Amino acid sequence: GWRSRAAFKLMEIDDKFRLIKRGSRVIDLGAAPGGWVQVALDRGAAAVAGVDLLMIEPIPGATLIQADFTDPGVDQQMLDAIGGPPDLVLSDMAHNTIGHRQTDHLKIIALIEIAADFAIRTLRPGGNFVSKNFQGGDAGGVLKRLREEFETVKYVKPESSRKGSAEVFLVALNKR
Ligand code: SAM
Repeated sequence: GWRSRAAFKLMEIDDKFRLIKRGSRVIDLGAAPGGWVQVALDRGAAAVAGVDLLMIEPIPGATLIQADFTDPGVDQQMLDAIGGPPDLVLSDMAHNTIGHRQTDHLKIIALIEIAADFAIRTLRPGGNFVSKNFQGGDAGGVLKRLREEFETVKYVKPESSRKGSAEVFLVALNKR
């Protein structure tokens, strides 16, 4: 079975945009408990590396690293694990909100920026990027950069994402 409800969200996004291809190299940021990693492997990815602050139970075929992705050197460790530039960078990273709107907001944007920066630096040309975001989150600066670096940038709200939640996913297609 799938380890997370989040797995259904990635399947919906992938049904729509066909991001995971046979042989794809995939990096998954904020991967615990491993639902997205399972989906990537199930859909034919050849190399998958996931990172999370939390320990992830092993998944055959994936490299799973327990670390803070924002720590120096962790990005290179992920790249080494997949043996070449990624075709797809996924980020479902989210931290526990503290309930102070402005602080939570700044932290969310910081995670998106870090994930987007990594995707822009490392994706092969034509590669794709998916990141969790929250509606009302002013990702203005990072959106502008993504629009320069990718052919298409879209927001999607999967059916399987809770209706009342502000969660949305940013999908950036076809890195230049
Ligand atoms: N996509 C996952 C799945 O399908 O199983 C669910 C991911 S969960 C919504 C978000 C995760 O992001 C949490 O497990 C959290 O520990 C992780 N996270 C938040 N900040 C992180 C960071 N700086 N480095 C690594 N992981 C982080």
